[in-house]
Amino acid sequence: MGDSNKRIETKLIHSGEPQPRILGSVMMPIFQSAMYECREELDYHNIQYIRLSNTPNHEALHKKLKDLENAEAALVTTSGMAAISTTILALMSSGDHLLAQDCLYGGTHNFITQDLPAFKIDFDFFKGDDLSRLEGKLKKNTKAILVETMTNPLLQVADLKEIVQFAKDHGLISIIDNTIASPINFRPAEWGFDLSLQSGTKYLNGHSDLVAGAVIGKEDLVRKITRKLNHFGGSLDPHAAFLLHRGLKTLAVRMRFQNESTLKISNFLQKHPKVSKVNYPGLEDNPYHTLAKELFDGFSGVLSFQLQGGQKASARFIEKTTLPIQAPSLGGIETLITQPAKTSHGGIKPEERKCLGISDDLIRISVGVEATEDLIEDFEKALSTI
Ligand code: PLP
Repeated sequence: MGDSNKRIETKLIHSGEPQPRILGSVMMPIFQSAMYECREELDYHNIQYIRLSNTPNHEALHKKLKDLENAEAALVTTSGMAAISTTILALMSSGDHLLAQDCLYGGTHNFITQDLPAFKIDFDFFKGDDLSRLEGKLKKNTKAILVETMTNPLLQVADLKEIVQFAKDHGLISIIDNTIASPINFRPAEWGFDLSLQSGTKYLNGHSDLVAGAVIGKEDLVRKITRKLNHFGGSLDPHAAFLLHRGLKTLAVRMRFQNESTLKISNFLQKHPKVSKVNYPGLEDNPYHTLAKELFDGFSGVLSFQLQGGQKASARFIEKTTLPIQAPSLGGIETLITQPAKTSHGGIKPEERKCLGISDDLIRISVGVEATEDLIEDFEKALSTI
């Protein structure tokens, strides 16, 4: 179905769906077949084989995802980290240099600092909120620039228009991890990014029951990354593809509710006398608010905050809340609470974490789709015990 001109809610339901429907099936069936009949001689990458990410479940998802972000092409992967690592290793080789925002998801930070040296790929981190120093980090061999739409867990927003312009001016590939915003709140291709990466484990699926990733963007780059993935082997299993496809259909209703709920919770926390700092770009006095309002259609469902009483108060708050589940990850329908220093960013050295502004007492909440009022009541009660 030609849905490219439709609104995103419609694309979520109809884009990429097989036409005619397979035996009339309303839902995309699971094609649990590893290989497909092949009578003619084909180029290796075109043989229909499960690891080559070209089964009907893969194809349907690729079309839906590219349509959602108004991009040229898409590829699903076994995880968000598979999307990130395969992209970097497909586009960069020994002797190249990567510019990366300093406060990235811990797994990405670890991949850059711990794995890239073995490939002799050089890197430098830059502060997303001080792009005046970016030019100074540029090298002759700089090949790509990597940022996050909103950083995890501090929800910092770099001037993404400036990043794209900088990449264009210097012939760099611009890559953005769009996991926290999701295509509902930000569509990187519309702002000129070459590639958007996603952990499908988070908002795209939304139900905390799979691991998946996606690369969305320019066709020639996605083709190159696909070929590398064919060698690395990180293709998405058809059952996970089915779950991701199913989860995607409700992305707009989930994400819009989560946008709204998180703003209300952030406002509540910010006004509470026992809370010392709230990080959420939807708050009017947040340093990134004006920029975020210009770039995004919503501010997403993740916030982080600190309490007056430091680590002891944080631990008590988490212990006393009853609705959020204490677990890492984000983007699901259930509210999750965690301390990034112990989970998502636990692999980063304490002094580096401190430098990045991720204090040990920082609490991150990924707001689910429970009633906002119930969550606020729960947080109010927990705060009264501190
Ligand atoms: N990018 C961001 C912003 C994340 O938060 C995560 C995981 O938490 C990832 C990428 C990695 O995703 P996955 O766990 O699916 O590999």
